[in-house]
Order: sequence, then C-alpha cells, then structure tokens
Amino acid sequence: MCLVNFYVEYMNGFYVEYMNGLITPDQTDFQLKSTLWLFSAAGSLILPFAIYDLIHQKLQIGIGALIIAFALFFGSWCCYRKTYKPVYTFVLLSPFCTLYLLYLTNTVGISGTYWCYPTILLFYFVISERQAWISNIILIVGILPLAWRLLEANEAARFSVTLILVSAYAAIFLRIISKLYSERCQQANTDPLTGLYNRALLQDSLVQAIHQTDRTDTAFTLISMDIDFFKKINDELGHDIGDHVLVQLGAFLKKFFRETDKVFRIGGEEFLILVCNSNEANSVDIAERLRRDIENLSLIPGRMVTVSIGVAASDSEKDWKHWMKTCDKNLYQAKNSGRNKVVACSA
Ligand code: GH3
Ligand code: MG
Ligand code: MG
Repeated sequence: MCLVNFYVEYMNGFYVEYMNGLITPDQTDFQLKSTLWLFSAAGSLILPFAIYDLIHQKLQIGIGALIIAFALFFGSWCCYRKTYKPVYTFVLLSPFCTLYLLYLTNTVGISGTYWCYPTILLFYFVISERQAWISNIILIVGILPLAWRLLEANEAARFSVTLILVSAYAAIFLRIISKLYSERCQQANTDPLTGLYNRALLQDSLVQAIHQTDRTDTAFTLISMDIDFFKKINDELGHDIGDHVLVQLGAFLKKFFRETDKVFRIGGEEFLILVCNSNEANSVDIAERLRRDIENLSLIPGRMVTVSIGVAASDSEKDWKHWMKTCDKNLYQAKNSGRNKVVACSA
C-alpha cells in the first residue's frame, strides 16, 4: 500500500503539469526528488561491491560496477540541480547496465543474475514507462539465453520464471497505477457537467503562458465569457434547462477553439479561454465571431441565449492575477454597456 501511495504521489508530480501541456513530464519536483533518492541508494549499495571487486583483483567487474555507481551518483546530482533528463538514463545508463549484467553473469554465474531484479524495478521509476519496457525487454532477451547456457537447467528455469514474473508484475502494477492516476487527475481537473477544465489548472496555465510570452514572444490572450441573464433562464425554465445550456455551450466551446487553446469553466455560467498564439486584435475577432455564433446557436428553442465577453492580452510585466483582473474588468464593462458585447480595453 505504501508503495502504491508512493507511486501515486510520483505520478502526481508529473501528470498535473503534463495535463497542462506546459512542462515535460520529466521535470517535476517530486519525480526529481524520488529519482535522486533511488539513484543515491542504488549507487551507495553498489559502491562497496565495486570496491570489494577491485580489492580482490576482479578489475573489469569492479570498474564496471564503479562506473555504474558513479553514473547513479551523477544522476542524483543532476536531479539535485534539476537538470536530470530520463532520456540519458535510457540511452546511456540502461544499455551499459544491460551489457554489464550480461558480462557479470557470464563471468560469475548465478550471483550476477541477482542484480537483474533491482535493475528492472529501478528502470520503471527513473525513466518513462515505454522506455522501461524497451530496456527491460532488451535485458530479458539478452540475459535468459545466457542463463540457460551457463546455469543448470533447474536454476535457469527458476531464474527465467522469476525474472519474467517480476518484470510482468512491475509492468502491470505501473499500468494499473498510471490508469488510476490519470482517471483521478482527469476528475480533479475537469468540470463534471461540461467536461471542460475547472479552476485546478488555471493558475499554472496562466503563469506558464506569461513565462512563454516573456521567453518566446508568443502572444496569449484571455477571453472571459459570461452568459447573460442566466438566472432568468433557471428561474423561468428550470435548473435542468439551465444545465442543458451549460452542457451545450461547453461542447460548442470545445469545438470552436483549437486543441492548443484551453477552455475553463471557472464558475456557474462563466468561462475562461486561454488562446494561444493570438494577439489582442486577433482575439477580439475570435471573440466577436464566438459571440455571434452563440447568439445564433438557438441553445433554447424560441429564446436567444447571449454572452458578454472580455478580452485581455498577456503582458510579461504583469502577473496572472492582474491579467485575470483586466479581463474581468473588460467583461463587466461588456455587461454594463448593455450585454451581448465584446470589450477588450477597459477605461
Ligand atoms: P448577468 O447577465 O449579469 O451575468 O446575470 P446572470 O443572471 O447571468 O448572473 P447571476 O450571477 O445573477 O446568476 C448566475 C446564475 O447561474 C445563478 C445560479 O443559480 C446559476 N448557476 C450557477 N451554476 C449553475 C449550474 O451549474 N447549473 C445551473 N442550471 N445554473 C447555475
Ligand atoms: Mg451571467
Ligand atoms: Mg456570472
């Protein structure tokens, strides 16, 4: 159970930001911290064996273990500096470990095979699931024929079965937890009524957009949208019709905006859209088209449903709260100037 919790936390680190589409899954704090400890522990346990082998004149084995121990310590250091990239473990450390395990087993026999188990488990925690699969298949495909050649048949059979079982259990465990976790994140970040993002990812998305504007000059715009006189719809036609309008509008917004834009339902009948790669003038055109399309949607037969919209472009000089405030001010000006309007520049 403790291991499950650990892995859920581990996935938590990267999945939130991964969902956000903002940061690569490799770079979150929790993953870095856990990888740091896993590498340090593995390096510290291997080092005494490396020294023992060197003292006992088993030079190749000792040097190989020493290289792996130092590579693990270097990986920890990279995690500490927040520069760790799992792909280097996949393309450098994992093949080296596989070759070393083949050499070790070939040289010392069954005691070399013991190291295959922790290696397989370690891969699942320090590189991506797919990379771990590839690394482990290569390790198994390489080591099993060697084990059958070197060990007695009953030992080789036990080794093959246990290694495949450990690998399969680890892979299944990882799959189940990943699936549970992605469902949990999906629920945590999604508004159940409309299927749009809720507020959970809002702050991170805006902060990241401001950073990106600063770094790359990519223009981002916020479009804040509120249904006009929604209370009346509820009061006169019932809450169910109100919900129906929200669901239909949510579906429409998903279709209307691009995959790269993020659509949030941030309150009862309030929506916020983070439009990527679009300056203020362009977003005003988009918002105007959106306003007109919604007006013509006939969400409720025989009754026009309209929205008021505020638009505000990102400004790397200002923080996310200020950005939202500007957008809200524009929205309320659209409300105050008669509703069913788009306002971009509040006075
Ligand atoms: P305005 O044009 O000024 O925005 O007026 P409004 O009536 O749209 O705004 P107001 O804030 O007065 O009312 C919003 C209403 O939205 C009140 C609340 O009952 C309703 N609401 C909030 N969440 C939901 C929901 O999930 N479903 C339904 N059906 N109604 C909701
Ligand atoms: Mg409203
Ligand atoms: Mg409102």
